[in-house]
Amino acid sequence: MITGNEIRTRFLKFFEQRGHTIVSSSSLVPHNDPTLLFTNAGMNQFKDLFLGKEKRDYTRATSSQKCVRAGGKHNDLENVGRTARHHTFFEMLGNFSFGDYFKKEAIAYAWEFLTEEMGLDKNHLYVTVYTDDDEAADIWHDQEGVPRERIFRFGEKDNFWSMGDTGPCGPCTEIFWDNGPEVGCDSPDCNVGCDCDRYMEIWNNVFMQFDRSADGTLTPLPKPSVDTRGSSPTTTPTCCAPLSLLSKRSAARSTATTSTTASPCGLSPTTVGPPPF
Ligand SMILES: [Zn+2]
Repeated sequence: MITGNEIRTRFLKFFEQRGHTIVSSSSLVPHNDPTLLFTNAGMNQFKDLFLGKEKRDYTRATSSQKCVRAGGKHNDLENVGRTARHHTFFEMLGNFSFGDYFKKEAIAYAWEFLTEEMGLDKNHLYVTVYTDDDEAADIWHDQEGVPRERIFRFGEKDNFWSMGDTGPCGPCTEIFWDNGPEVGCDSPDCNVGCDCDRYMEIWNNVFMQFDRSADGTLTPLPKPSVDTRGSSPTTTPTCCAPLSLLSKRSAARSTATTSTTASPCGLSPTTVGPPPF
């Protein structure tokens, strides 16, 4: 059995082997960000790098960030305890590119980690892209061989990230694990994107591609970046359900959970826990 600690280590090592610097989790209370009461995403400590205000001696980073879901807009706090994937305290695994690699590599890394490093069955995986992000859809199909019928397109609410009304923003692509019909809601419409626990988001690649001006104009960023598994202070951090959600049927094994809130199945999908393999 793989423990949560092992998954975390393997994730960080996987990305370290691919040129990423392992960066420690930052404090749960941000030191220098007056817009945040608590750290709520892996990307928080890298905000100034994404905005080009800060330079470090690396352009690729990976981290396991402790996060709190405690309040604020669009953070799904009301879902805590009601679903198997919303919790108040969790770790968010992430890999980040600051003007380095972009969609092709980010998608390849995600797919390789899940299907090869973790050995997840591709037949249980689906992906989503932003409605007009043909580039991402084509990468999923042409590069990774994901059948078109397993690639779903969603709009701004689900597959477009922004830090606020203006500033860096862009489409995202997500990966879902199908827990099977027995945990679904039995609705005839139950499919990827349903609010029930059948299709669980386990990965999100955010492509910071544009700079949005006050009048809504999207200008391509000179150096687009990648924030994987990230969420922003102003968008819904549902994109952080890590691999432990896959251990839904094995709640007793979630040894590495950091959740402070019990879910219906006693699991901590937004923490790092053991997978079902
Ligand atoms: Zn459903």
